[in-house]
Amino acid sequence: MTLTVYRVEVDRKKCIACGTCYSSGSVLFEPDGAGYARVVGGKTDELRSFRVFNDENMETASSTAGYCPASAITVTEGEDAKSK
Ligand code: SF4
Repeated sequence: MTLTVYRVEVDRKKCIACGTCYSSGSVLFEPDGAGYARVVGGKTDELRSFRVFNDENMETASSTAGYCPASAITVTEGEDAKSK
């Protein structure tokens, strides 16, 4: 069985702290102390927050990305997800 590898990233320079991603029930995102989004369990700095996953949350991540008003969330699938 081949697992889907994908990377979820928040561009923290674009994020406007609207809360849509982490208020929607998604387990993938959470706010930092100022309300800006980060990926749960991911690596976070002032520029970005990201994590590579190997499970089936792809659809959730992609739909949440579509709701972000700042287009700050990207989801990359496949081997490219690991090499960024
Ligand atoms: S939906 Fe987008 S702009 Fe809003 S908090 Fe999440 S990443 Fe930031």
